[in-house]
Amino acid sequence: MKKRSYAALALAASIGFSFTGEAFAKNLSDLQQRQQQIQSQKSGLESTITEKEQQISELQKKQDSVTAEIRQLDGEITKIESQTRIKEKEITETEAEINELHREIEELKTRIAERTVVLEERARSIQQSGGSASYIDVLLGAESFSDFINRATAVTALVNADKEILQDQENDKKQLEAKEQKVTTQLASLNEMLADLKKMQQDLSEKRLAKNKVMKGLVADEHEAHEQRLSLEEEKSLLSSQEASIKQAIKAEQERIAEQKRLAEEAKKKAEQAAAARALAKAKSSSPAKEPASSGPVRSDNAPADAGGLFMRPAQGTFTSGFGMRDLGDHKGVDIANSVSVPIVAAADGVVSRSYYSDTYGNAIFISHSINGQVYTTVYAHLSERLVNGGSVSKGETIGYMGNTGRSYGQHLHFEIHKGPWTIGKENAVNPAAYINF
Ligand SMILES: [Zn+2]
Repeated sequence: MKKRSYAALALAASIGFSFTGEAFAKNLSDLQQRQQQIQSQKSGLESTITEKEQQISELQKKQDSVTAEIRQLDGEITKIESQTRIKEKEITETEAEINELHREIEELKTRIAERTVVLEERARSIQQSGGSASYIDVLLGAESFSDFINRATAVTALVNADKEILQDQENDKKQLEAKEQKVTTQLASLNEMLADLKKMQQDLSEKRLAKNKVMKGLVADEHEAHEQRLSLEEEKSLLSSQEASIKQAIKAEQERIAEQKRLAEEAKKKAEQAAAARALAKAKSSSPAKEPASSGPVRSDNAPADAGGLFMRPAQGTFTSGFGMRDLGDHKGVDIANSVSVPIVAAADGVVSRSYYSDTYGNAIFISHSINGQVYTTVYAHLSERLVNGGSVSKGETIGYMGNTGRSYGQHLHFEIHKGPWTIGKENAVNPAAYINF
């Protein structure tokens, strides 16, 4: 700036040679005035820019602190939700145990009551025949030695039976007492668990409220937020981890095909052998060889069932938002919501390429698939908890639980299918409805 003003002065001075002294002075002061004007405009502009930059950096700072707060709350909520699920399972188990104990107690009580009737009858008959003396009468009435032996054996059996019945009665009474004691303890621990659960649920609703409040502090609105913009860092690591998982998925499919072929051949061979055996034995009826029983993954409660098709639905719930739907931005997946945290399952056999916490997607899992030689990618976002961190998963396997983590408004699963690899522009995203028998 200073250099320029000197240059202007020098220019003015060189022009000034052709003017009179007065005119020169006037022109010079004009020039200086204009120079000053420009200078002040420029500095005004500069201070505006600085001000705006400050505002932007403040907003950025605010956004960053909100993001950090959400991350923290998500972590806490995930932990409590996980503990809640464990507690609920414990409660269900304890309730089942208590029910079983009640059933056993009822059984014992019936047995004791029935035996009491028998014992009372015995007591009455012994009394009527003169008490324990009746045994001696029986023995003394023997006509011969062998008769005596017979009678003695019979009396011993009778005495033993009485003893046994009394022993049984006493054992059952002891067991009854023990079981009643156990029910009391179990009920006490159940009440404790229920109290714990209530406390957790209170904590949870507090944290959820806190998250909702923090979400309101986000600069972006709901729609913009739902666009799920990922950071450059995330995009880079997604792309790099994807390469390996795609290779693994293709290899796994080839192995599956080979295994299926082997099983089919084995089944065919077995069927042929069975047919030959039947022909040999001239069996009356022939039944077709049974397919080898498929050993599917163990499913937890509320998990969706495989309705066939290339992919299965990843979670139970209602569709709250479809593919491409959104007033602002393009929705690259479908949303499935549920009021309870239901299991999220892998939509097809595949290899986990990424399982991580994203500031936008929350707890997210990316899976690479190879189906009939075609590579697909599925994305599961806003999970409460992630149960897989890498490696192979099978269709229907629980990979996590539905949640509300990241830039999410209400508990739901955001689910995407990409025909091909996942790309930054999401060009390969397809409508999941076209691939799943919902
Ligand atoms: Zn969505």
